[in-house]
Amino acid sequence: MAKIQMKTPLVEMDGDEMTRVIWKMIKDKLILPYVDLKTEYYDLGLVKRNETNDQITIDSANATKKYGVAVKCATITPNAQRMTEYNLKEMWKSPNGTIRAILDGTVFRAPIIVKGINALIPTWTKPITIARHAYGDVYKNSEMKVKDGSKAELIVTDKYGNETRQLIHEFKGSDGIIQGLHNINGSIASFARSCFNFALDTKQDIWFATKDTISKQYDHTFKDIFAEIFETEYKSKFEAAGIEYFYTLIDDAVARVVRSQGGYIWACKNYDGDVMSDMVATAFGSLGMMTSVLVSPSGVYEYEAAHGTVTRHYYKHLKGEETSTNSVATIFAWTGALRKRGELDGIPELSAFADKLEKATVRTIEEGVMTGDLYVLSTLPEKRKVNTETFLDEINERLKETV
Ligand code: NAP
Ligand code: MG
Repeated sequence: MAKIQMKTPLVEMDGDEMTRVIWKMIKDKLILPYVDLKTEYYDLGLVKRNETNDQITIDSANATKKYGVAVKCATITPNAQRMTEYNLKEMWKSPNGTIRAILDGTVFRAPIIVKGINALIPTWTKPITIARHAYGDVYKNSEMKVKDGSKAELIVTDKYGNETRQLIHEFKGSDGIIQGLHNINGSIASFARSCFNFALDTKQDIWFATKDTISKQYDHTFKDIFAEIFETEYKSKFEAAGIEYFYTLIDDAVARVVRSQGGYIWACKNYDGDVMSDMVATAFGSLGMMTSVLVSPSGVYEYEAAHGTVTRHYYKHLKGEETSTNSVATIFAWTGALRKRGELDGIPELSAFADKLEKATVRTIEEGVMTGDLYVLSTLPEKRKVNTETFLDEINERLKETV
């Protein structure tokens, strides 16, 4: 059988620890036998980042801007312990943070749903994709403890030196606390466009919610920017695609989400996304089944697994012990990237291959063959726990039948 040919290379970002081990296995067993894979390879493993003073991360993000699609392996974000473990020159920043800053993107996280692994909320039978605005609010705040008897004010000085003042609170009878938040209209607009584009891409409705009734300037600005961009740039495209933009208050949204079946994108302000993404991910089961894609407002895509480098399994692997690490989210990062490359370059066989690999992966688990993390969750009557490598071989057995 002739291998599927590619046109534009994928930007391939290799990573660390157990996911680096899985990365190579996925390529060798599930992709290279079928696709004449073209990638521009960047090694974002910590050793190489340290060697290049992290320039490799910046280069990989710029390559992503150039080519439009990247696939990324999980990487270590260094902490004090990693400084000695890897003899680092500096505590390099999170690669994801660096890439996101360069691409100005929004992260969409979605669970992969299989029969036998049921969400903790029984009505959730379709994925809920969370989009988190990754700029500002409480994450870039300025805050103070305030003594009794103090008066706190907001002061804004415009570029001509004119001051506008507004009372926050006069502290009488007790000490207190204050907090200053900000956001930027441009960032909110980028977030809105990334969300609307991704909704069109995946043919799903999009929900957005803030507390605009209470926060009449701050949250209301989010609501207004979303509404204006939707009306002027997306409304007709949404109608043509048969999908909806739905806005409501955040507390109403939470209640509706819990009652829903899933199957939509939930766009969240920064803090809401931080909290709700952990809630949604936990309710859907395993971290090994959560995918993540960074989408820039200009339509650049970077696909990855939502989990980290699975350090504990890696240390076992180094000792020669058997591991049972779930590779599903990393496989879906590859299929997401290959499918998108196929769409952009007009290679339907490549997109179809991505679909087949996903189906073979899901079928493997639904036929009872799974890694340890899923084995403890699965309600299938007949199930078998397999090791990291056997799981991939089992997928390949099923994939072979369909290509
Ligand atoms: P983690 O690698 O996601 O692992 C946490 C635990 O979750 C694992 O020990 C394992 O539990 C379970 N788990 C996660 N993924 C799994 C999989 N695919 N299959 C089976 N079990 C899985 O998070 P972490 O331990 O907090 O972080 C480890 C390293 O990853 C850190 O250096 C961190 O900086 C990095 N990280 C990178 C990214 C990224 O690149 N996007 C994201 C998060 C963390 P058991 O040990 O109980 O089996
Ligand atoms: Mg969180």
